[in-house]
Amino acid sequence: MRAGLGFDVHRLIQGRKLVLGGEVIPFEKGLLGHSDADVLLHAVCDALLGAAGLGDIGQHFPDTEPRFKDISSMELLAQTFQMVRDKGFFVNNVDATILAEAPKLDQHRTAMQANIAGVLELESAEVNIKATTMEGLGAIGKGEAIAAMCVVTLR
Ligand code: MG
Repeated sequence: MRAGLGFDVHRLIQGRKLVLGGEVIPFEKGLLGHSDADVLLHAVCDALLGAAGLGDIGQHFPDTEPRFKDISSMELLAQTFQMVRDKGFFVNNVDATILAEAPKLDQHRTAMQANIAGVLELESAEVNIKATTMEGLGAIGKGEAIAAMCVVTLR
């Protein structure tokens, strides 16, 4: 059994779609990034890579590469999963926390879990997604950014 940790943060700006866990979420702002900036999936990718001893997401999908511009992070997750499988690992479970002051994410949780489970060949119950606010504190608390952290275990 191996564990991996992932963390990511992206700035919230006007004029971008908000994509979290592969879901487009209605909101007045979206996350800034080279890809679709899906901060949750980036944390999941980093946790997978960490558990497999494969470095980090920036090494595999550099934001200087035109081919990753505006790419769906579901595609990055699928490619990451393939690297993990190529090393002989299966994913055991995923547990993630989204740190966001807004919007409320409760109604999107089931769909995000299903998206991630689908790519990682898991049951939805093996992908747990939690959400918390920062109680108004710091950049995330002021609604300037969203962050996510994730732990993955592999077998
Ligand atoms: Mg990122």
